[in-house]
Amino acid sequence: MLGPSTPRKWGPIQSVSGQKPPLGGWLKEEIMHEDDRLKLRDSLRGTLIQRGDAGYDVARKLYNGMIDKRTLIIARCVDVADVMTAVNFGRDQGLRIAIRGAGHNGPGLASVDDGLVIDLSAMIGVRVDPTARTARVAAGCTQGDVDHATHAFGLAVPAGIISTTGIAGLTLSGGHGYLSRKYGLTIDNLIEADVVLADGSFVTASKDRHPDLFWALRGGGGNFGVVTSFLFALHPVSRVFAGPVAFDQKHARAIMQRYREFLPGAPEELGMFLGLKTVLSSPPFPRELWGRRFCLLMCCYDGPEDKGKAVLAPLLNALPAPWFNWMGVMPYPAVQSMFDGLYPKGMQWYWRGDFVKTLPDAAIEAHLDQAAKAPSELSLMHLYPIDGAVHRIGSGETAWNCRDATWSMVIAGIDPNPQKAGPITQWTKAYWEAVHPFDLGGAYPNFMMDDEGDARLKAAYGDNYRRLTMVKSRYDPANLFRVNQNIRPAS
Ligand SMILES: Cc1cc2nc3c(=O)[nH]c(=O)nc-3n(C[C@H](O)[C@H](O)[C@H](O)COP(=O)(O)OP(=O)(O)OC[C@H]3O[C@@H](n4cnc5c(N)ncnc54)[C@H](O)[C@@H]3O)c2cc1C
Repeated sequence: MLGPSTPRKWGPIQSVSGQKPPLGGWLKEEIMHEDDRLKLRDSLRGTLIQRGDAGYDVARKLYNGMIDKRTLIIARCVDVADVMTAVNFGRDQGLRIAIRGAGHNGPGLASVDDGLVIDLSAMIGVRVDPTARTARVAAGCTQGDVDHATHAFGLAVPAGIISTTGIAGLTLSGGHGYLSRKYGLTIDNLIEADVVLADGSFVTASKDRHPDLFWALRGGGGNFGVVTSFLFALHPVSRVFAGPVAFDQKHARAIMQRYREFLPGAPEELGMFLGLKTVLSSPPFPRELWGRRFCLLMCCYDGPEDKGKAVLAPLLNALPAPWFNWMGVMPYPAVQSMFDGLYPKGMQWYWRGDFVKTLPDAAIEAHLDQAAKAPSELSLMHLYPIDGAVHRIGSGETAWNCRDATWSMVIAGIDPNPQKAGPITQWTKAYWEAVHPFDLGGAYPNFMMDDEGDARLKAAYGDNYRRLTMVKSRYDPANLFRVNQNIRPAS
């Protein structure tokens, strides 16, 4: 690992014969001149990590243990100047560039074989302005970093449900979670973003500055540049009434039907998702339930307990008694991190998603049938609401298009054992094939793998796709940023 003060370790790069082979015969590693790498190292305030360095294997690891990419160099940036340097270097060297926030992305698009990773994980810091109710968030922050900083002021920005997720990747493709019904997607709360573009220049995008870029960043993923910081609007959220309510799987049909009817009309203070899951064979779950399949209602009411109970009563009173109801009053960051321990870094993940408009009984039957075949205790199906504040923004107002969906569904095959990679993948695909005919066709790019094809991505963006290709051709005409759910520049 090379920091600015580490002695130089590269010697001249020579072929064994001393002869220069034709260009195609060289590995990228061999044709990249030592001087260039030294210049890069010396220009960075952060750290340059390359193959053979002691920290290389740790630094290249991604959240999804199923993905094993061997990148050439990792530029762990600490400021915007570092990011500019890294972008210029990668472009001038003809390297494929991956951008890394927290590395949570399912298909591992935060890394690239034989290329350059622009790693932002050291760029952390949140500045809360409690008067303006905004937070300036550096791009390497996790959701947990943001919640920690904003909670001290009794404020929050809507984001996802696992606190180790990177705020950057989550935001750039949308971001939905417990607060979305009331306050919208994470992108709906984005005021501006600082971006290093493919030519190495720096811009701030907002509704008044580079509005086309600002539109594209709100859903279009990492296609347009490296975002170095975000400015978010905050909302008064402090303590919530939240927790899981778990029912025997035999009641899942009735619960899904009630959930479908109840939630779209429920107060927007209630965030809630439904899950088809298995009780893990470990504490804190009651031993007699270990390994049994269940239907989860995961609730988060942004308000006092008595009101939350009253809001939930029409739903819960109409259902059979749950196995357990662990709802209680807690700080918002507690519900945000409730599942972190169940999903540590390094497990095998394969997932597929879809946006869902309606949930007919036939779809529910398909869900029950497929969920019963889950190949591991951690494998799951979640159905998140897309309504309320998310619907109050038009489909064309941001790049995130599927605002007419009612639900965002994800099926995830998950297991710690690498030998289960095959079964969890097959189960996820088969489950998805069975329910997809009932869905809208488009997927949430944050819930896509990299084997789903262009048509799926186009369906995800719908009418916005063409406009995205035009913004891409303006800001990244050579498609420098293509290690992502790629939107190619309009020709
Ligand atoms: C356990 C788990 C739970 C999740 N829960 C939710 C949820 O509740 N709601 C939800 O909406 N999503 C959820 N997600 C999906 C999550 O939003 C995506 O995986 C997201 O990509 C993770 O962001 P990251 O910064 O960690 O991504 P990384 O893997 O670091 O990056 C992913 C991609 O994002 C782009 N990118 C990252 N940082 C930047 C940047 N600074 N500038 C430009 N491009 C960048 C790049 O294209 C990169 O390839 C969850 C994921 C996991 C694994």
